[in-house]
Parts: sequence; C-alpha cells; structure tokens
Amino acid sequence: MKKPIKFSFALICGKITIKLLKLLKRNATNLPGSVVLAICPDFLKYLEKPEKIIAITGTNGKTTVSNMILDILTDNGYDCTNNNFGGNVDTGITTALLKDSTLSGKAKKKYCVLEVDERSALRIYPYIKPDILVCTNLTRDSYKRNAHVEYIFNILNKYIPDSSHLVLNCDDIISSRLKLQNKRTYFGIAKIPGERLIPDNIIKDINICPICNAHLKYDFIRYNHIGRATCSKCDFKFPKADFDVIERTFTDDGKAHITVANEGNEYKYLIPCENTINVYNATATITALRTFGLTYEQIEASFKKISIVKSRFEIIEVNNKKIISLLAKGQNPVACSHACNIVRDNPSEKNVIMLFDDMFDAKYATENTAWIYDVDFEFLNCDSVKRIIIGGERAGDYTLRLLIAGIPQEKIFCCEHEEDVAELIDANCETTYVVFDIYNEHLRRITENNLKEKFKNAC
Ligand SMILES: [Zn+2]
Repeated sequence: MKKPIKFSFALICGKITIKLLKLLKRNATNLPGSVVLAICPDFLKYLEKPEKIIAITGTNGKTTVSNMILDILTDNGYDCTNNNFGGNVDTGITTALLKDSTLSGKAKKKYCVLEVDERSALRIYPYIKPDILVCTNLTRDSYKRNAHVEYIFNILNKYIPDSSHLVLNCDDIISSRLKLQNKRTYFGIAKIPGERLIPDNIIKDINICPICNAHLKYDFIRYNHIGRATCSKCDFKFPKADFDVIERTFTDDGKAHITVANEGNEYKYLIPCENTINVYNATATITALRTFGLTYEQIEASFKKISIVKSRFEIIEVNNKKIISLLAKGQNPVACSHACNIVRDNPSEKNVIMLFDDMFDAKYATENTAWIYDVDFEFLNCDSVKRIIIGGERAGDYTLRLLIAGIPQEKIFCCEHEEDVAELIDANCETTYVVFDIYNEHLRRITENNLKEKFKNAC
C-alpha cells in the first residue's frame, strides 16, 4: 500500500512527542496519538499492525480482562503491544501502536492486546481487525455519551469485522447476539448451588425476546439482566456455554477455586477473584486464551502468579478497623449497584463514604443525574449501614436519591468539601467503605489517609 507523505510526517511527529513526554517524565497516553491523528486522520490505515491481535470491549470488566490476558501472555513469553497504560479510544490505541513501531511504520512486536472503548468501534475496527474479540457484557452506562445499550450494540454490530472470532458472554442476552454470522465461543457461569443471586436490581436492559418480543423467562438472574433466559413463546434460549463455570468456591484471601467444563472435560483453576463479577472476567480471559491457543496448563500456572490490581479493590486494616476501597465507576448504574450489593453483603457495622465524580459532565453541558435513579441504593437501606457520607457539589442529589431509597435522614451526612468526608464517620463502626469513581482516585487516597490517621490516633 502506497503511504502518503502526511503519514510519514505524522509518524515522526508522534515519535518526537513520545520522546518529549519521556524527557518530561510524563506518560504517553493519548497525546502522541492525538498529534498523529490531527495530521493524518487515517493514520491507522497505513500503519503496519502486529500479526495477531486480541481486542477486549464491553461495558464492565474490559480493563481487568485486558490486564489478565496481557499478564498471562507475557508470563508465557509472548511480547505484546498493549494499551494497558490507560488509553482505550482511538488516540490511546494509536499511541500504543506507534510506541511499538519502527520509523518506517513497521510493527516491532508480533502480538497485540488492546482494550477498546465500545463507542470507538467506528474509528478502530475499519483499520484494526482483531483476530479474537472479547465482549465482556453490555449494559447501560454514561447515558449522555452512550445513550442506551441498544445504541452501543448497534455500533459494535456494524463495525466489528466479519473476520473476528468473538468471545462472548452467554449469560448476557444482549452482547451474546453480536454479529451472529461471526465465529464465536461462549463463556458463562452456571447456577452455583447456594449462590446468592441478585434478582432485585432496579434495571434490566432486556426483558423481551429478541426474536418474537414475547416476555423472557429467566431460569435464574444473577444480576441486572445477566442470567439464563428462554422465551415464553418461541424456541429462543440463551446460547450454550463452551466454557462453563460449574463450581466456584471463594477463599478467605480473595481468591476463587473454579471448575470450568469444556468439551466434556473439567478443568480446575485458582483465580485471583473475590467476587462473581471477577469470575466472569477470569472466565472470559480463559476462553480468549484457549481460543488463542494457550493450553490449560499454561493458563492455570500463570493465574497463580497474577493478582487483581489494587486500584480497584483494596482492604487496609488499622487498629482493627477496616478501610475497604471499592471502585464503582460513576454514571454506570450496574457497577454502582454491585458496589452497593457488596456493602450490604458484609454483615459488619459500617460507614459508607461515596465519592462520585459527575462534574466532568456538568462542566460542558446540562447536568445528567438520571443514572443515580437506576442505581440500587435501596441495598444500603439495612441495619448494618450506620452512616452514608457524601462529598461534593452533588451531595444534594444523592441525598434525595437515598431518601427515596428509604434510608433514614439521620444516617445521611453531606460534606461540601470532599477532602473532609473522613471527619463525618461513626468511629464505632468496624468497617468503612470508600466507594469511589475512576476519575477521583486522588480523593480516594486523601480519604484513605485521613481515615488511617484517624484510626491510628484513636488508640
Ligand atoms: Zn421469542
């Protein structure tokens, strides 16, 4: 393919930007890609790609799955281009590929693992054709940006290449129906005896049969619309899992023993997962890597060496008091409802500090608080939750929502300055949850440190 001069110029400018950022000791996440795409918008068309590409998309879990896939491939000697430094839109993906390309635009590495934002599909897949594409799940998320889940489904369905082998969640009636003509391998989790299911979420993103519009009947609902459904009228039913988790036991140190049924055999893994959501992520990882060609033994051995990054879930103990930090992803009602469910499942008496960052929305346009009415804040209406402390300019909105959830007003505390939330906790509680958003990691750290100081000084 003849490459235009602007491509070579963009490539050199991108490389210089990466060098400059390195000199300034700053991470090259999106900026080099932005520079390149400003000069040559179809840059990715001309850049040589690695030979084998695994892409990961979906509403929840894509970062965790990408990290696990990358860690396991690296552990098995595969050197992969990747964007696990953070940029999952076109600019970040361009930066990742640019970093590992030569000055003539050739790929330095043979393998590639890319996390891809769902809405970026139209800017990525015309140029990058993943050999394996994992979709973890699709649920409503960031309404102003993503509209409804069907809008995102349609984007993916239109732009995912016909050649990609899909790895899909059979327990998600929505994403399991992506690109029905493509090759596909399904993963899922069968109903586990004694499992605590969550059939009482407020939202379900699909209620009717995608074939005949009759009501769906669920064999079981694990959470939101994730579960195993059949149609009440036609013969539509959830797809059969090729990799099906049939046993799952959690250990006390945040891990899980799982048994995965595949082609009549059973395979046991010890995985670094403390909840069912992460068991889905690990099963997606196993399915993608087995499809890629890794053996059970290779994956099983590597899983023993990896851990879930502490930025998402962390327990700190000071003077017999527990601080549990939990990533909840603001504007994402499914992720937030999970956090509320984890809090209610812990029987100890607790404070819940909520640090959500909605302000990036409000900076540019009208505010959108619709999503907080889809979060199951009702789960926090239980005796063991002693106080809920909310910080920031949206505290009033959250207070109204918590009151609608039936939470007594005397349990709700508002704090104008988010840095000061730790001062409002009930110090008698054994546990304090810090539920934070992906965009306010700094506030989470400040709050954790303030809590640590408070508990240290208490003795
Ligand atoms: Zn039907």
